[in-house]
Amino acid sequence: MLRLLALMLLLFATPYATAAVPVFDVHVHLRDGETSLRQYRDDVRVAGLELSGIGVMWFGGPHQARQGELAKIRAGNDSVIALAAAHPDVLPIATVHPYDGDAAVAELARVAAAGVKVLKIHAHTQGFDIADPRVETLVRKAGELGLTVLMDNANILPGDSEKLFNLVVRLPKTKFILAHIGGLNFRFWNILALARTADGFGFENLYFDISATVLVVADSPVEEEFLWTLRNVGLDHVLLGSDYPQIGLGRTVDAFERLDLTDEEKAKIRSGNALTLFNR
Ligand SMILES: [Zn+2]
Repeated sequence: MLRLLALMLLLFATPYATAAVPVFDVHVHLRDGETSLRQYRDDVRVAGLELSGIGVMWFGGPHQARQGELAKIRAGNDSVIALAAAHPDVLPIATVHPYDGDAAVAELARVAAAGVKVLKIHAHTQGFDIADPRVETLVRKAGELGLTVLMDNANILPGDSEKLFNLVVRLPKTKFILAHIGGLNFRFWNILALARTADGFGFENLYFDISATVLVVADSPVEEEFLWTLRNVGLDHVLLGSDYPQIGLGRTVDAFERLDLTDEEKAKIRSGNALTLFNR
């Protein structure tokens, strides 16, 4: 009887143990300001989730910050700054185009002064090469201004993870979040466990969000390898994101909760790590 009770507790208590932990969704695309934010919140409410923070960017998919679109970029950045001013749980994420050179750096300084803490740049949709020296200049400046740099790492482009690895190594004072943790090339990042054995290679500045990729790996033949990867990159450096509106937070959390992690590990990834990283 006691064993049955223990089994029932295990079966019924475990799935709900972390369900109460709010989620910090670090990867949300809201292209239409307040209207999009309302739709996003409705979506989250229907999924029965509580939010502790939302990392909001105005661009994504077909709506991009291309080289030379300085006025459009400034207006877009201002829209997320305004959203954050009205909603304390919104973390505004700005963008610039690395090839805009001094103008990009000036816009970065302007948004940093307005309280922005995260810069997102996307090599595939914005059309730049991660290995271009203008990217390093911009990203170094971001670090000096205290901004964390969120970059796409879905491995759509050849050499994506390798180029990002080298950028992170060259800029140990800039904090990075690599979105999608390499997609299905996530295994690459197990190299961190070895790289850390070299002097001066702590990778304390490197974080990952598991948006999108978590949907594919949960309950897949590679789930165990994915968990091994999360532990090798460091569970304190893993963040949860949805990539809304392409993917809802409900589907993301459903997949995430199916991963064979402990409640403590899940709580860190749901929101603990993001709250620490963003000083919230
Ligand atoms: Zn995205």
